[in-house]
Amino acid sequence: MSNNKKKANKNFFKSPFFIFIIASLIATFILNSLLSFATAPLEKEIYYSDFINMIKNDEISSVTISSDKIIIKTKESVEAEQKFNEAVNGVTGFDDILEISKNFEFFQKKDIVLYTGYLNDGDLIKILTEHNIKFSRPVSESNFLFDIFLTILPFLIMYLFLALIMRKMSKKIGGGGGFMSVGQSNAKIYLENKTGVTFNDVAGQEEAKESLDEIVDFLHHPTKYTVIGAKQPKGALLVGPPGTGKTLLAKAVAGEANVPFFSLSGSDFVEMFVGVGASRVRDLFKQAAAKAPCIIFIDEIDAIGKSRDSQLGGNDEREQTLNQLLAEMDGFDSSKGVVILAATNRPEILDKALLRPGRFDRRIIVEKPDLKGREEILKVHIKNVKISDTVDLHEIALATSGAVGADLANMVNEAALRAVRLKRTEVMQEDLMEAVEIIIAGKEKKDRILSEREKKLVAYHEVGHALAAAKQKNTDPVQKITIVPRTMGALGYTMQMPEEEKYLMSKDEILSDLTVLLAGRAAEEVVFDTKTTGAANDIERATNLARAMISQYGMSDEFGMTSLESIENKYLDGRSVSNCSEETRTKLDNVVISTIKESYENAKNILTENIESLHKIAEYLLEKETITGKEFMSILNGVDDNVSEEEE
Ligand code: ADP
Ligand code: MG
Ligand code: ZN
Repeated sequence: MSNNKKKANKNFFKSPFFIFIIASLIATFILNSLLSFATAPLEKEIYYSDFINMIKNDEISSVTISSDKIIIKTKESVEAEQKFNEAVNGVTGFDDILEISKNFEFFQKKDIVLYTGYLNDGDLIKILTEHNIKFSRPVSESNFLFDIFLTILPFLIMYLFLALIMRKMSKKIGGGGGFMSVGQSNAKIYLENKTGVTFNDVAGQEEAKESLDEIVDFLHHPTKYTVIGAKQPKGALLVGPPGTGKTLLAKAVAGEANVPFFSLSGSDFVEMFVGVGASRVRDLFKQAAAKAPCIIFIDEIDAIGKSRDSQLGGNDEREQTLNQLLAEMDGFDSSKGVVILAATNRPEILDKALLRPGRFDRRIIVEKPDLKGREEILKVHIKNVKISDTVDLHEIALATSGAVGADLANMVNEAALRAVRLKRTEVMQEDLMEAVEIIIAGKEKKDRILSEREKKLVAYHEVGHALAAAKQKNTDPVQKITIVPRTMGALGYTMQMPEEEKYLMSKDEILSDLTVLLAGRAAEEVVFDTKTTGAANDIERATNLARAMISQYGMSDEFGMTSLESIENKYLDGRSVSNCSEETRTKLDNVVISTIKESYENAKNILTENIESLHKIAEYLLEKETITGKEFMSILNGVDDNVSEEEE
C-alpha cells in the first residue's frame, strides 16, 4: 500500500465529509424520535368486536387500514378537535383561556386514537360503506429519511466495527494507527524531553554513575572530544538484576545531560510480522537523529538481542530487527551526540555482534546495592516521607541484605502506608521493620487461627532455629521470633540480622547456617517426636546451600575445587546447570545428602543439650506470639546461668 493511500485512509475518519455524514445521520435520528414522541397520540387498543359495535353505533368518523392494524378516529375525537381549534382561534383574552382549561378533559379526547388488530374480514368494507365511514390505506407508512437510516445503519455499524479492529490490528502490525496500515512504524516510542531524574535520585551505584559521567560530559561538551579526535562510545549496556535501577540510571543520564530521552522496550520491536521491527528501528534512529543530542534507551534488549544461533529454527523477525539495529548503530555518527543505552539482566544470551567495539562496547554493571548503598537508597526514598526520630536507616539497611532499589522504595512506601493506617502522622522505625517483614514474609494474617497443638509445634520449630543460631559461632544474632502467620505461607519465622555486611561466606558459616535451617525440624522431632510440612522451605534452602557449597564453592573433601555446576542466569536467580558426568552427579547427590544429615544431627544435639531453654522460650513465645532478640537472649542467659550455678 502506498504511503499516500495510507494517509488517506487514516484521515478518512477525521475528514469533514465523514464527520458531516455521521452528524447529520445522528441528528435525523434524534429529531425523528423526538417528533414522534412529542406528537404521540394517546393510543389505545380495543377489541375487534368493540370496533364492529362502534361502527354499528355510528360512533366512528374514519378509519385507516394498514397491513397489521386498523386506526380508528371516533366522532367524539373529531368533534373535540374541531371545538378545540375553534376555541383556540377565538382566544381574545384570559377568560377564553380559562374557558379552554375548564373543558380540558373534553379537548383531550382529540388526541385519543383507538386501534385494533387487522383481521381478514371480508365484510368490513361493506359495513363501513353502509355506515358512511371514510376509510383509506396509507401510501407510505413511515418516514423516508428514517427508512434510509435504518437500511444503512447495520452497514455503518459493521464499517465502524471493522475499522476499529483494523486499527487495533494495524497498530499491532505497524503501530501506524491507521486503517490497514501494515508496516507503518511510529511504534510506542516514548519521548521525554526532560526526564527530571538526576544522579542524585540514584543511590548506591557509584561505579555505574562514574562510568556514565563521561557520556554526560560528552553530551555537554562534544567538541572537547572531537577536537582531540576521540570518538565517543556509541552505546553502553547496563547489566544487572531487576530493580537495581538500570532504567532509572538511563533516565538520570538524560536528565544530567539535559537532553531528550527516547525509550523503547526490546519487546516493542518484536511483532508477529516480519519486517515491522526493523522498520521501527529505522524510525527510532531517524527520530532521534532529528532531536540530537539525545539518548536512545532500549530496555530489556535481550528480547531482540538474543544470540542469533541460540534457538532452534531461529526467528526471522527478531533476526531482521537485530540486523537493522546493528546496521543503524554502525551507520550513525556518534559525534552528532546520539548515545544509545540499553539494559538487560541476561547479558550472557546477547549476540556477540551487539557487544563488539563500536556498538555496545561499554558494559556498566549495576549490582545489587551493598549495606552503604542500601542506606543511601533508603535515604533517597525517605526524603519525601515524614519520619520520627526513632528511625534508624542503618538498621533497616542491615536487615535487608539482598534487597534491590525497587524493594527498598517499596518498603519505604509500605511503611508510610502502615503509619497512615495506624493514624500516625510520621513513620516510625517499627513501621519500617514491619515493611521489611512484609517484603520478606508477607503480610501478617491475624485471622488464620491455628489449633493449640499446631501453634505449639510452630513455636518450638521457630525457637529451634533461634537456639541453633544462638548456640553456634559464625551465625547472625536473632532479631525477632514470631508465630503470627503471614500471607506468604510462613506460619511463623525467625529473623536473624547480621551485625555487618558480609561479602564472603566461609565454610564454617555455611555449615552453621545449614544447622540453623534444619533446627526447626529438629525441634519438632526432639520435642514431639514428629515431622511436619512446616519445614519444607527450610529443607529446600538447606539443600540448595549444601549443594552450592560442594558443587560451586569447592568446599568438600570429596571433590575438592572442581566446578560441578554453574549458575545459568546470574542476575535472575537462575537454575544451576550441571557440568559433570552422570556418575559424578550421583556421587554429588550422595555427598549433599550426607552433609545435610550431619547438619541435622548437629542441630538435634544442640537442642537436646539446651532442652530446658527450648521449653522455656517456646512457652514464652506461645504466650507472647512475638518476641524480640533481646527477650530471647535474656531468657536464654537466665537458663544458662542457672545451669552453670547448679554445676558448681
Ligand atoms: P531496573 O530497570 O533495573 O529493573 P528500575 O530502574 O526500573 O530498575 O527501578 C525501579 C525503581 O526502584 C525506581 O523507579 C526507583 O524508585 C527504585 N530504585 C531502584 N534502584 C534505585 C537506586 N539505586 N536508587 C534509588 N532508587 C532506586
Ligand atoms: Mg528496567
Ligand atoms: Zn523453619
